[in-house]
Amino acid sequence: MRCRKCSNRAVLGLPRHNTAYCGPCLTEFVRTQVQKAIKAQTMFSPEDRILVAVSGGKDSLTLWEILLKLGYNVDALYVDLGIPGYSERSHEKVERFAHDVAEACGSKLIIQTVEEDAGAGNGVKELANLIKRPTCSACGTIKRYQFNRVAYQNNYDVMATGHNLDDEAARLLGNVLNWQDEYLQKQSPTLPASVEGFSKKVKPLYRMTEREIAAYAVVNRIDYLVEECPNAKGAKMLVYKDVLNRLEAESPGTKHRFYWGFLDKQKKSAESTKHTMTDIDQSTLLPCETCSQPTTAGTCSFCRMMARAKTAAR
Ligand SMILES: [Zn+2]
Ligand SMILES: [Zn+2]
Repeated sequence: MRCRKCSNRAVLGLPRHNTAYCGPCLTEFVRTQVQKAIKAQTMFSPEDRILVAVSGGKDSLTLWEILLKLGYNVDALYVDLGIPGYSERSHEKVERFAHDVAEACGSKLIIQTVEEDAGAGNGVKELANLIKRPTCSACGTIKRYQFNRVAYQNNYDVMATGHNLDDEAARLLGNVLNWQDEYLQKQSPTLPASVEGFSKKVKPLYRMTEREIAAYAVVNRIDYLVEECPNAKGAKMLVYKDVLNRLEAESPGTKHRFYWGFLDKQKKSAESTKHTMTDIDQSTLLPCETCSQPTTAGTCSFCRMMARAKTAAR
């Protein structure tokens, strides 16, 4: 297999684009796609300060690397959830990337640990057991909360995550299968900043598949943690991804058509009703009575979860 651009030996075939690339051409392709995503969804400009949430996995570290290579002003946040073994290994990958790659570009790494939060005890699993919730959902609440809080306190303009096309298509499939209208309304590569306390949220990798990002990471020697979080085993998202991968193998471009078709419809419906996501957020969000982070309820989901854990621990 030869690269369609320069005829060198190809490292990756891209059936959905009916093409193949060598290492350097793949790198150029991926960076161009990310830049296109940033422009098309008006995510941020070179003047903005960006905070990337990193987990030590390929997507978030690749996103950090690409934004640095594209010359953006970006720092990273890692939340240590105290998952035995896994957290140490992911923490180490993140620290190493910061030291070997990011620091030379003037980019810094911010670290938050669950243990530092009052009431969280010994990691997310114990917390989830206490309040009888699936670990992944407790973990999601903590990560979202810390991400919002750190972005706000440090005046970041934009919060970026490494969600890719596979993640977004799987999430869309789940939302459609269960007809979760409220989630469908808020599923977007760009969520505008809302009332004081919420920065804008973006997903610059939404045009890239997991496979393309993994190939980019290997070609560019990004040392990431390959293992999945042990708590994610059996999660619904993995089933949806598997189903979509089977459809993709039969008919290349399925994920792409599914997710981009959705974005297209969403845009048209927003234009016809002149109803934007900012309207929704600003009408419903108020400061949490406990921590003053914005929330749709009186007390935010993080504070409610922590209060439940405290009561259960007594
Ligand atoms: Zn090439
Ligand atoms: Zn709160």
